[in-house]
Parts: sequence; structure tokens; C-alpha cells
Amino acid sequence: MPMIYLDHNATTPLDPRVLKTMLPFFKKSFGNPSSYHRHGREAREALEKARHTVAHLLGAMPREIVFTSSATEANNLALRGVVRALRNKGRHIITSSIEHHAVLKTCRALEQDGCQITFLPVDGCGRVDPNTVSRAIRRDTILITIMYAHNETGVIQPISDISRIARSHNIIFHTDAVQAFGKIPIPPARELCDLMSLSSHKIYGPKGAGALYIKRGTPISPLLTGGHHEHGLRAGTENVPAIVGFAAAAEHAVKDCGKEAVRLAALRNRLEALLIDSVPDISINGKGVERIPNTTNVSFLSVESESVLLHLDLLGICASAGSACTTGDPEPSHVLLAMGCTPQQAQGAVRFSLGKSTTARDIDTVAAVLTDIVKKLRSISSVA
Ligand SMILES: *Cc1c(COP(=O)(O)O)cnc(C)c1O
Repeated sequence: MPMIYLDHNATTPLDPRVLKTMLPFFKKSFGNPSSYHRHGREAREALEKARHTVAHLLGAMPREIVFTSSATEANNLALRGVVRALRNKGRHIITSSIEHHAVLKTCRALEQDGCQITFLPVDGCGRVDPNTVSRAIRRDTILITIMYAHNETGVIQPISDISRIARSHNIIFHTDAVQAFGKIPIPPARELCDLMSLSSHKIYGPKGAGALYIKRGTPISPLLTGGHHEHGLRAGTENVPAIVGFAAAAEHAVKDCGKEAVRLAALRNRLEALLIDSVPDISINGKGVERIPNTTNVSFLSVESESVLLHLDLLGICASAGSACTTGDPEPSHVLLAMGCTPQQAQGAVRFSLGKSTTARDIDTVAAVLTDIVKKLRSISSVA
């Protein structure tokens, strides 16, 4: 059975070229980058080279990059680290109601610890209105955190406008850029924000590596205490193979970004056009505004997304409902509800996220298969 993987926003397969760059650091160059001897120096060199690469790609300085275990950790470091460092300045944070759980649940936890959080609404297309950011700013606002591009819908936020607002009020601005980096061109980090989170495994790198860009001078305290790793901001021996792989993946992603974006946008648009043509009563969430090119989020009315996914899976087709992080959660997507979808629309939503392996043939197969699945499911539910 041929496999069609349309869940690249959940994770991507490791690029074989990336694997090759990682292998020496599992074997010959196994040293601890903090050790003084030659094995240590080898690892240190590779680590600093990776830092240099990621910094260069982002438009940052190497010392502004802190490697973490994941974007979840980077988001936690950004939010909790700033809150801790600015404890005496204020306790108000502005975010959106559609953030990834790594930000949303961290905000909720900080709320329990005495922070005040404004969760901004979004419009019907899933975008934050920069004016609502302006209006939410208070004297004690210490941080604004708004994601760059959405993992569920692909919708791109007016991030430069929000950045300008934050800067004009001298408020620290963080963006979770996991789904934007390597998929669309992004402005140099130093011009865009104070803090930016990235993940390796969303761009064909290994799991177990992420990064936080921290603009020089940004007040931030570490979450982990221990050795003086990562400029004292992330204690723990660095995961050298994963970090080396992350940097290699980032390089490939940025280099291929332009061409791949055009190809994927065409495939995504083809999938949407085919579905609109052949499946009645669907809506495409976030269509009509700028989106990352690989993502579409489709609501099939009167069916449960779980049933659609199950039938697709039986045919070797991988997609997902909402984000992978919410699987097992019977609640409809907080993101789609915030966009004004009815619970019914949210319950029938399926995300298709395309990637390097996706072909036009895959798209045609998936569209045809979906047409049948949805027809079948609707006929069953109308009988019951
Ligand atoms: C996947 C994802 C994360 C979490 O990244 P991990 O490296 O898996 O922790 C955070 N934010 C967004 C937008 C994501 O898509």
C-alpha cells in the first residue's frame, strides 16, 4: 500500500543528508563540548558552527542563539524566563487565543502563578488585529507573544505590524516561528523581534533540538540551573548530534524555501480546488488570507474528523485533526472555535500539511478518496 504523508506540520521525516551530518557525533566525535580535551573541542567546534549557521540564517549573532530540546522548551524559556527577569516591572502578558499549546498552556500556568494574561481574539480568518494589540497594552505589560504562522490553519499573522507596536511601547516581543521558518521568507530576527522560537523536527531535522533567538540585552532568566551551558541560559550538556542536524536542516530549508513554496502552494491549491469541486458542504478555514504554502484546513460538515482520519489511515494516508498535540482531546479545536467556526464545523475539520515528498498524484488520490469517504460517512449518519 502506498503511503501518503500529509502531516508535515506535526513532524517531518529526517532528511538523509541531515542524518549524514549527524552520524559522526554519535560515534567518533562523541565528546562533551564542555570538556577541555580534543574530543570535547571537536564537539564544541561543531556546536559553535551550528550556532553560527542558525544565527546567520536568522539574521542574528551567534551569541543570541540558545539551543533547547524543542520549540516547546524555547517557548517556555521565552515566557517564563522574561516573567522571572521582569518580576518587579510588571506581570501582564498579551497573547492570542489561537497560540500553540506550548504558549497557551504556559500562559495559563503563569496566570495561576499571578500573571495577568490578555488572550486576544482573532477574526474569521484566524488573524489577530494589530489594533487589538495596541488597545491591550497596559503600563505593566512586559511581554507580547504572537505566533508567526499557524500550525493548524497555516494562517500568517500580521507579525511586522505587531512587532512595530511592541517596539514603539518598548515591550518585549516574542514569536513562535516554528511553522514559518524555512517555509516562507522571514525578516531578519534582529529587525522583527526580541525572542523567536524554532523547532528542528518541523524542517526535516531530528527531534530533540530547538532554538530560542534572544536579542542581545533582552532580560531573561534560565529555567534550568546547572552548568554554564548556552551562555548560562540552558544548563545541561548539549545534544550535539541533534543540534548539528538542526543546523544542517535549517540551511537546506532556507536554501530550498523559494522553490518549494511555489511547488507546495500549487499542490495545496489543487487539493482545495478538487475538494471544492467534488465534495459538497465544505469550508476551508483561513482561506482568503496569507497562509504558509503547505497547509490547508478543511471542514467537512456533518462528519467527524476522527472518522475521516480513520478511513484515510486504512488507505495509507496520514493527515490530522487540528494539531498533533491535541490528539486524544475530544474537544474541538480552540483555534477554529476562536475563528468563529460552529462546533460542528470544528468537529469535521481535517488538516492536510504537504511536504517534500508530496506529488500531484498524491493530491489527486487524496481528493478522490476523500470524496468517497465523506459521501459514505454522510450517508451512514443520515440513516442513523
Ligand atoms: C510543533 C510546534 C511547536 C512545538 O515544537 P516541538 O519542537 O515539537 O516542541 C510549537 N509551536 C508550533 C507552532 C508548532 O507547530
